[in-house]
Amino acid sequence: MEEHKHELIPEPPLQPRASRPLLIVVSAPSGCGKSTLCDRLVDEFPKIIYSVSCTTRSPREGEVDGREYYFLSKKEFKDRTKSGEFLEWAKVHGNYYGTLEDTVLYAMEEGNHVLLDIDVQGVKQLREHLAQMDPRHPLRRGFTDIFISPPSLEELERRLRGRGTDEEKVIRKRLDNAEGEMAYAKEYSFQIVNDELEKAYHELKTVILSAMGLS
Ligand code: ADP
Ligand code: 5GP
Repeated sequence: MEEHKHELIPEPPLQPRASRPLLIVVSAPSGCGKSTLCDRLVDEFPKIIYSVSCTTRSPREGEVDGREYYFLSKKEFKDRTKSGEFLEWAKVHGNYYGTLEDTVLYAMEEGNHVLLDIDVQGVKQLREHLAQMDPRHPLRRGFTDIFISPPSLEELERRLRGRGTDEEKVIRKRLDNAEGEMAYAKEYSFQIVNDELEKAYHELKTVILSAMGLS
């Protein structure tokens, strides 16, 4: 005899729409392993997507306009700041970087979680911006901020050199900025030390799953 079912539970879609889309904000001193960790996260969770920022820095080898960044001239960048298109923007390591508000909102309306890889000044600005918004605004509701630190400044230097993407003077500038950036770590809701990669990734995943309400 067939068992009586009280209600029909529809099969969940393969990629359910995010019920509370997250605005995941990750900061770290350059070379710390933030891209390594975040790339893995977006690979594992197709509903988490990067927001493509604008920058005035030159593309690195292999970088494509519209994929890693929108590469803008200083004039184009300035025009966009004047017309209020950025959710936040900052000068980092001598170049301008900014997040387009429309890009983020559109991606969240489509049911995605959006990951912002932005520097400490940008996050400060973003917090101030969100504090002015209605508490029910999706950007404010989804805000989840995470700071990733290196195990030490010596290890950070080794990683920056080992990556082999930046010239000596760029490496020096990034190292000079690292200590100042690390002073902001305590302002973030979550802090992760990227010493052993697997452990750091596990911690990152735990934070995200919990923010999604899945753990
Ligand atoms: P970021 O995006 O923070 O600038 P990357 O992800 O490019 O940093 O990492 C910088 C370098 O450090 C890369 O060569 C990467 O493979 C390496 N790396 C990342 N995480 C670790 C780790 N936990 N242990 C050792 N090397 C790491
Ligand atoms: P890179 O030049 O290595 O790609 O990035 C340098 C720094 O710029 C990183 O610390 C990164 O977090 C920051 N950054 C990238 N995009 C943005 C952005 O849109 N806004 C801000 N404030 N910082 C950004």
